[in-house]
Amino acid sequence: MTTVLSVASECAPLVKTGGLADVAGALPSALAGHGTEMRTLLPGYPAVMAALEEPVAIIQREKNLFGGPARLLHGIAGGLEVYVLDAPHLFEREGAIYLGPDGKDWPDNPERFAALSWMAATIATDGAAGWEPQVLHLHDWQAALTPIYLRQLGSADRVATLLTIHNIAFQGLTDAKRLKALKLPASGFTADGFEYYGKISALKAGLVYADKLSTVSPSYAIELMTPEFGMGLDGVLRSRRADMTGILNGIDLEAWQPPFKTLRAKAKLTKSLRQEMGLPDAGGPLCVVVSRLTSQKGLDILLEALPRLLAEGGQLALLGSGDAELEKAFQEADARHSGVAVKIGYDEALSHRFIAGGDAILVPSRFEPCGLTQLYGLRHGTLPVVSLTGGLADTVVPANAAGIWAGVATGIQVHPITTDAWEHALGQLCAIYRQHDIWNRMQKNAMRHPVGWEVSAAAYAALFKDIEKAA
Ligand code: ADP
Repeated sequence: MTTVLSVASECAPLVKTGGLADVAGALPSALAGHGTEMRTLLPGYPAVMAALEEPVAIIQREKNLFGGPARLLHGIAGGLEVYVLDAPHLFEREGAIYLGPDGKDWPDNPERFAALSWMAATIATDGAAGWEPQVLHLHDWQAALTPIYLRQLGSADRVATLLTIHNIAFQGLTDAKRLKALKLPASGFTADGFEYYGKISALKAGLVYADKLSTVSPSYAIELMTPEFGMGLDGVLRSRRADMTGILNGIDLEAWQPPFKTLRAKAKLTKSLRQEMGLPDAGGPLCVVVSRLTSQKGLDILLEALPRLLAEGGQLALLGSGDAELEKAFQEADARHSGVAVKIGYDEALSHRFIAGGDAILVPSRFEPCGLTQLYGLRHGTLPVVSLTGGLADTVVPANAAGIWAGVATGIQVHPITTDAWEHALGQLCAIYRQHDIWNRMQKNAMRHPVGWEVSAAAYAALFKDIEKAA
């Protein structure tokens, strides 16, 4: 049995801003059948403290942890076995977990997550009421100082570390003046260490000092090593090439259980979605999008390619919110075209009706570490049309000549990520839609594709076993 402490700044269902929370929330139970016991260390945000059942204090001794007293609690929260860093001066506050009421990062975010990392290293060094992790699974910059603290506490030879990158855009940059306040060694503040253009980079500390690195898809693992995707850290990542792995995220199969048993029953849901959104049936596929509206998601490209879909009898239903300009552009498209319906907002229930009722789901992202909506689409026989990048490249079997000949295609991949290529792909989608045999075959292939955690949990378990150090 490998014991693993997952160190996460968010964890579904307790606190969530993105995919990191889903991974942190899903992995412990997914790993249970794979010889891995994973417990989770979380910050004591109000939502976590409120959810904690039967807490027991196990480390009381921190009188001054980055500016105030702290203790470590152990209990159950959100169905997980958790350790909670109860440090009111850092975590007991209203507002979002990373942002203050003014919408800006909390100024003491570096200290808040340094404290989380310090506690992770302390548990690794001293154990937690008899439980000793052999591996620390660190998520993003918020946990990335841990390998340095492990060295300082003298346990880096004993306890292994895996740093998983969910989003390289967030790097935890801090002014160099805070070196001492963050308990960081001046000797590490170099280009080979955690210095990044004159600042402290928490993420870079993890990229340099963790034993192994991973990200959330094999393709993104390679893309991160290029200047186009590496956001300034591609050189560091290239130097760690041998230690980098990509493991895909899974989805919650219960939450995303299709509400139909047969494709005929699915067709009824398509019909009601058309009615709900006021979209006609003009002989083409009903395409759906569920997405944040940001430049990353490439929806401006889709907007330009859209006339091709409409000309071939297809429709678009979009659910999303984000950049004001994109919201406006899609609302204008809705007003101009009878084949376009746009709902601005975040609506979990409607997202399920979109995914279940759509014929195809469009994901035109410029980059996508893993992506979840294409996985929901596969499970519902809602064929994904995706940009060929990151996790989108790894989860869709393209309907190119070879894929169709072999009878294995599950969707369409678009490359390069341009308007021209997207126009072509939407034309191809409509052509395949008219060939019922091929379309049905693709739907069946898609619905068989494994999109849960089983495969990835086995991959994480093997990685943990591999890096575990002899005590
Ligand atoms: P990202 O994390 O970059 O936003 P993912 O595809 O990994 O992209 O995950 C997005 C998640 O958020 C999915 O679960 C998707 O269904 C959900 N989502 C995004 N926008 C909306 C929305 N407007 N309404 C409901 N769910 C949404």
